[in-house]
Amino acid sequence: MSISTSESVAEDGRRWSRTRRARFALSTLRERIDEPATELRYESEYELLVAVILSAQCTDQRVNEVTPAFFEAFPSPQALAEATQEEIFPYVQSVTYPNNKAGYLAEMGRQVVDDFGGALPETIAGLRELQGVGRKTAQVVASVAFEIDALPVDTHVFRVANRLGLTKEGADAADTPRKVERQIKRIIPKADWGEAHHLLILHGRYTCTARSPDCQRCPLTPACRYYARKQRLPASLDGLDAAQGAFFCNTCGRYFDAPAAHTDRYGQEQTACPSCGSMQVFEAETGEPTKTVPDYRV
Ligand code: SF4
Repeated sequence: MSISTSESVAEDGRRWSRTRRARFALSTLRERIDEPATELRYESEYELLVAVILSAQCTDQRVNEVTPAFFEAFPSPQALAEATQEEIFPYVQSVTYPNNKAGYLAEMGRQVVDDFGGALPETIAGLRELQGVGRKTAQVVASVAFEIDALPVDTHVFRVANRLGLTKEGADAADTPRKVERQIKRIIPKADWGEAHHLLILHGRYTCTARSPDCQRCPLTPACRYYARKQRLPASLDGLDAAQGAFFCNTCGRYFDAPAAHTDRYGQEQTACPSCGSMQVFEAETGEPTKTVPDYRV
């Protein structure tokens, strides 16, 4: 579905296509972020793999706190292969899902030694055979350690790509990491995938955060679909009388308690007036508009 709105047009009158947004975002972020790279600390491919497995649903900061002692205790796949889940657990107990991760790591060490001759497989498919290594982890390790073209989509890349408008909408909405990956790979040159992955992660981690994106200081506002829509939300109203109803329709001027629902042209369900169907609805108590802009999280 293609949606034609004023937000698709830049100041120079040219259209903000997804490709143009991606180009603008990457060139702008490149200027702001020196040497985009993972914030996980590691010194070998093996250490990187361990750190990435530990980082699932956990912060890089927390992982970096536990890995020095872990790598001292288990400095190689061979050392890990000889350890049991119970022996590994104390080293990872402060990261998320420590039981599962300790089990994955023990099995991963054994697999590397028994099935791959003690060295990490250097392909995405090979890495995915290892315990605890899903699609994203395999792509991160392949991209960072083996310089294989990959554009892994984690929670930050998922959110930022959708907010910026690097993804499609409507029936083709990128509502899974896999769909985001497919869509953004088509608009970002292959040679830039690895760098784009880090730039989008760092932008998501420090500026376009999940709970409160710092749009005021973000250099990507001219191209950002989410920001453009936020700007078009109606301003709050003063002087509403909550005694007359929980909601107020600014189109027909009625108060009401039981709102209707309406799906807007972006596929977002909005509160609507039960009398006239308008989505210009405000909370009577606060005067805030009920209209929301679609946001994306995984
Ligand atoms: S303008 Fe706001 S929503 Fe858009 S990328 Fe920047 S911080 Fe994120």
